[in-house]
Amino acid sequence: MDSKKIAGKNAGAGAANSLLKEFFVDELKDIYYAEKQIAKTLPKMKKAATSDELKNAFESHLTMTEQQIERLEKVFELLGEKAKGKTCEAIEGIIKEGEGIISDTDSNTATRDVGLIFAAQKVEHYEIATYGGLAQLAETLGLTEAQQLLHTTLEEEKQTDLLLTGIAESHVNYEASEEKA
Ligand code: FE
Ligand code: FE
Ligand code: FE
Repeated sequence: MDSKKIAGKNAGAGAANSLLKEFFVDELKDIYYAEKQIAKTLPKMKKAATSDELKNAFESHLTMTEQQIERLEKVFELLGEKAKGKTCEAIEGIIKEGEGIISDTDSNTATRDVGLIFAAQKVEHYEIATYGGLAQLAETLGLTEAQQLLHTTLEEEKQTDLLLTGIAESHVNYEASEEKA
C-alpha cells in the first residue's frame, strides 16, 4: 500500500521539511511580530480611551496578548525553531491608522472610543485571519499540540472582537451620536 496516500490527510512527520512547513513558520514569525507590536500599543489605547469599560477591555486584552506571545513561543519550541519575529507590514499599517484616529478625535469623547473600537477590531480581524489559517495548517501538518495552542488563541481573538462589538453597541455608539461637532 502507498504510505504517502495513508499520510494524506494528516501528513505529520512526512511534512517536516515541506514548503508548507516553511510557509507556516514564516507566518508564525509574522504573527509573533504583530503580537509584540500589539502589546506595545494596547497601553496607549487604554490611555487614549474615554470610558472605563473600554480602558478595562484594553487592559485585559494586554494580559491575554502576553499569554498569546508565550503560546507562540511554545509553538516555536515544539517545532524546534527559535522564536523570532518578522516585520508584519499589515499590523504596522493598522496601528498607524489607529494612531491617526487618536490624533483626529478629541480626548474624553465617546467618538474617540468609537474610533478606538474601530482600530481594535481591525487588529482582531487581522489576528483572526492569521490564527485561523495557522491552526488549519498545523492540522494539515499533523502538529496537534501546536494546533491546539493556535486554536486557543484564535478563540480568544474572536471573543475579544465580540466584546468590542458589545461595548460599541451597548452605549458608546449612541453616546457618540449625541456629541456635537
Ligand atoms: Fe493577539
Ligand atoms: Fe502580517
Ligand atoms: Fe487580539
